[in-house]
Amino acid sequence: MTCQEAIALLVDHLEATLDDEQRARLERHLAGCAPCVAYLRTYRRTRDVVAAEGRAEMPEEMKARLRAFLLEEMRKSAPG
Ligand SMILES: [Zn+2]
Repeated sequence: MTCQEAIALLVDHLEATLDDEQRARLERHLAGCAPCVAYLRTYRRTRDVVAAEGRAEMPEEMKARLRAFLLEEMRKSAPG
């Protein structure tokens, strides 16, 4: 799994909507990839903010923005 793939799955991972195989693959990636663990923390913080506002889940638009932001961060920190 690449970091791009991992980032695409992080939100679903937090919402526990991944199937077992996807979750296992993601967890294997996270075990060996510190940046993606940091991204997961960012997602989790954002989700907590959303929850504090009384919403059950992250709006699609926010997920998309987060994903784009993290991919951009990743490009900056790991060119190529
Ligand atoms: Zn990664």
